[in-house]
Amino acid sequence: MKNLLNQLIQLQELNFAKEEQQAATTKMPLAQLEKSIAKLRAQLPTETADRYDRLLQRNSLAVVPLARGNCSRCGLAVPAAVVNAVKAGEQLQYCPHCGRFLFLPESVGRQPKKKIDSDAPVPVGIARFSSASLMLPRLAATSREEVIGELTKLLSDGGFIEDAATMAELALRREAIVSTGVEHGLAFPHVRDVEGGGLTLALGMKPKGLDFGAPADHLSKIFFFIVIPTPATAFYLRLLAGLVRTFESAEARNALLECEKPEQMWKTLTKLTRETIP
Ligand SMILES: [Zn+2]
Repeated sequence: MKNLLNQLIQLQELNFAKEEQQAATTKMPLAQLEKSIAKLRAQLPTETADRYDRLLQRNSLAVVPLARGNCSRCGLAVPAAVVNAVKAGEQLQYCPHCGRFLFLPESVGRQPKKKIDSDAPVPVGIARFSSASLMLPRLAATSREEVIGELTKLLSDGGFIEDAATMAELALRREAIVSTGVEHGLAFPHVRDVEGGGLTLALGMKPKGLDFGAPADHLSKIFFFIVIPTPATAFYLRLLAGLVRTFESAEARNALLECEKPEQMWKTLTKLTRETIP
């Protein structure tokens, strides 16, 4: 049964990666992902696969982690017997309220309650989930691992995450499914289903570019690292679409890449995303 649940989690990851790519761009090749999805789905018992499909039709998430005894998606309390059964892992368990498959989260993704300390009296737009202290104008990194290492360290130094090493490992696991590097030198490494805290974004740049696994061997230059608690999942897809819309423009990309100081980079990012990130 543990194996079946793992297959479902993997299937969910693939389906969500497809949604991310659709939100981020229209030109990405989806064929590879769709092939992997079909292959994995075919391995599931019919009843489980059908239930998965029905859940997915209603929402982008069909398999969700428990969060302190609650379903992390609908937020309602799950009976102790179901929680214990999820822990025992003997049989697939569902949330009795929304019907989604439940699994135990990796406790390591946990995020402290620290909130963004914005200069603005009432933060709006990107200031709700990032700040000047999370800008890194010149990454030293020369590889995918090092980009993710530097950005997770920045987040943990600022007290936004507890465990940089585990966060980096989870982000790399996501990259292994399909690279988050897209067109225009943009990349969106991220970790979903983080427990606690709010959606948080750190931004690093490498003007020279590096191989992040983007299609057609395009070099990636601008890296948005995003920490996503489960309730923020739908918003994250809109954020992704908004960021791509802003930085599709070469003018916007160049304005950002020219920044050499975190403060200047933050001001530029805030200005450029004023229209696209509500
Ligand atoms: Zn639920």
